[in-house]
Amino acid sequence: MGNWQQVIKNSVTTVDQLVELFGEENVDREAVQQAIDKFNLRITPAALETIKEIGDAFWQQYVPTPEENEVIDGVPDSLNEDADSPVPNITHRYPDRALFLVSPVCATYCRFCTRRRKVGDPDKIPLNQFDSAFQYLEAHTEIRDVILSGGDPLMLADRRIEYFLKKLRAMRHIEIIRIHTRIPAHLPERVTPELCATIAKYHPVYVNVHFNHPAELTPEAEECLARLSDAGCPLGSQTVLLKGVNDEPEIMKELMRKLLANRVRPYYIYQADVVAGGEHFRTSVLKGLEIIKAIRGWTSGMAVPHFVIDAPGGGGKIPLMPEYVQEITEDEVVMRNYAGEEYRYPLPKEPVLSSVL
Ligand SMILES: *Cc1c(COP(=O)(O)O)cnc(C)c1O
Repeated sequence: MGNWQQVIKNSVTTVDQLVELFGEENVDREAVQQAIDKFNLRITPAALETIKEIGDAFWQQYVPTPEENEVIDGVPDSLNEDADSPVPNITHRYPDRALFLVSPVCATYCRFCTRRRKVGDPDKIPLNQFDSAFQYLEAHTEIRDVILSGGDPLMLADRRIEYFLKKLRAMRHIEIIRIHTRIPAHLPERVTPELCATIAKYHPVYVNVHFNHPAELTPEAEECLARLSDAGCPLGSQTVLLKGVNDEPEIMKELMRKLLANRVRPYYIYQADVVAGGEHFRTSVLKGLEIIKAIRGWTSGMAVPHFVIDAPGGGGKIPLMPEYVQEITEDEVVMRNYAGEEYRYPLPKEPVLSSVL
């Protein structure tokens, strides 16, 4: 297994490299440079290898296009995360869990990134910048679930990851720790046996990975997932519904099945956020409902994620469900099953008292 820091150095980071790889006619130098000035470019070797042709699902996710410079409805902080941030690096929106941003960088930058406003600046953050975050988590004993996110937490060195896990584990009220990462898709070399052994010391640590297309589950990514799973991390997945990438029921169904086969339980499909710079990835909401309908009942129930909209303005994740109930009367529920056939369930009736008869 190679040194992952070295692998990152072999990433694509400049417009010149894009032009060299994909041709002058496919890279609008000026517009792409403008996009990169706003949000870093980096494509790791593993991500680059998934790109098979110009404009495919992987090119679209990683190669900046002039559309990034067009803003229609998009805003920088569409989820209003900064308003729900009591101290730097913490977003506390739900009653019993908090988001803890521990790393500002990712291995590969996804062009649809919701947190592009604060991701990509590679300046090293001194550990004392996290003091107020730890104090907040310590004082708020109602928090029992802490989500390490960023950027990508697994971009940190092992000893830094251990520092965070150790500090959190020392707080008695914190029951579970989650690591949200896209590393298995973009830098599988990072998940070394040493990292796995470090994480395993602080269980329960859940790892939620991020895959958007079945072809991202390369043999290397699958081996990486197996290492995490073998280290005792329950794995979940998050997927963003993206126009031209995965907005087709068959692609999503295959992705969910493949994840499950890799011991990853599909967790969420997100409607794309209304983020400035990423608006060209947005689909209709009906597309997401169509996808859930095409999965539910047609394959393992364990492969069915929740389809959610992270509400603009900061309302949190709201699930959207296809409608199976046709009607509820006083006597019965009229429903359709996954194949669209109608069934009826009789509602309980008042018992007839035999003693008065
Ligand atoms: C998504 C999110 C969580 C976690 O939500 P779950 O539904 O428990 O996965 C927590 N805090 C914030 C701010 C979030 O955006």
